[in-house]
Amino acid sequence: MDPLTEEATKMYFYENRLKSFEGWPFDEDCMCTPENMAKAGFIHTPSDNSPDIAMCFFCLKELEGWEPEDDPEKEHKSHSPSCHFITLKKKVEELTVEEFFKLQKERNKFIINKSCNEAITKFEDTAKLRRSDIINTAMGEE
Ligand SMILES: [Zn+2]
Repeated sequence: MDPLTEEATKMYFYENRLKSFEGWPFDEDCMCTPENMAKAGFIHTPSDNSPDIAMCFFCLKELEGWEPEDDPEKEHKSHSPSCHFITLKKKVEELTVEEFFKLQKERNKFIINKSCNEAITKFEDTAKLRRSDIINTAMGEE
């Protein structure tokens, strides 16, 4: 992916992340408001069964089962200590182009890692099914 396309850089910006939190179940009188979630790098990625899934746009860590008193920044750091975004000392807007490129390179590693892991899981699941097919066939022919 070209690191400077709008799509690739969009979620670096707080406002764009905040917009994803439409329908987020926690709003007032709690720690994990959409504002705090977006500040901590999360985007809202709900599924039919889980309306409260949030994923870090950078390290792609998904967290669900949020409680009102959960602090998004603390949760992010404890579940994904190697995320470069949550440990960033500067605002994205203050980064130099070089710093931004380096950051984007780290983000791409997370993206590649996740897609590799998904491919491996898919392969292993398929292999398991095939294996049980083979065993069933062999047993049936006895
Ligand atoms: Zn992260």
